[in-house]
Amino acid sequence: MSDSALPFSQLVLASNNPGKLKELQAMLGEYIEVLPQSRFIDQEAEETGLSFIENAILKARHAARASGLPALADDSGLAVDALGGAPGIYSARYADGQGDAANNAKLLEALREVPDDQRGARFICALALVRHADDPVPIICEGAWEGRILHAARGEHGFGYDPLFLVPELGLSSAELPAPQKNRLSHRARAMELLRARLGLA
Ligand code: IMP
Repeated sequence: MSDSALPFSQLVLASNNPGKLKELQAMLGEYIEVLPQSRFIDQEAEETGLSFIENAILKARHAARASGLPALADDSGLAVDALGGAPGIYSARYADGQGDAANNAKLLEALREVPDDQRGARFICALALVRHADDPVPIICEGAWEGRILHAARGEHGFGYDPLFLVPELGLSSAELPAPQKNRLSHRARAMELLRARLGLA
């Protein structure tokens, strides 16, 4: 861990999503010891909020309660313009919990007739950090990443909707970006940059 203003040396990552855990570990690991929530509890928090921020706070409190440690949660998803912002906070469950491949197939089908100039979309990430389960002032940071939905999957990296998300400046899908490059550009990277600044980390 580097010299920092952090008042704690361990943090629980409030997620069981392996893709997210890997990215968050890579972004935070040099500053603090990050422990997966699965060390303390199997059950996920119920995501009953109506926004990414509300769900991130629910998840962070759930992990902090189970572990007795500060907890960081990421609630994220894909908002597609032609679908009025769907799947949004329901991104993980878009195809009724059948997983990433089914989510991607459903998205492609929903956009089958939609031309390129109307396939705008963005990934959104809300991070919530609580120092303890009942923390009255969670730290909240958000990030967005603008792109377009492709007509077919491309690339092998990443997770979730990455194979369908075109990063227009690069002409590549986010699944075609090596992990370190995605971790510099993504919605999660942007939210994490704000969080690091809030925490006084380098
Ligand atoms: P959550 O675990 O409820 O926050 O759901 C997040 C869901 O949004 C994931 O399961 C993915 O479907 C999608 N998602 C979030 N971030 C990313 C990303 O970086 N790449 C691809 N899909 C993502």
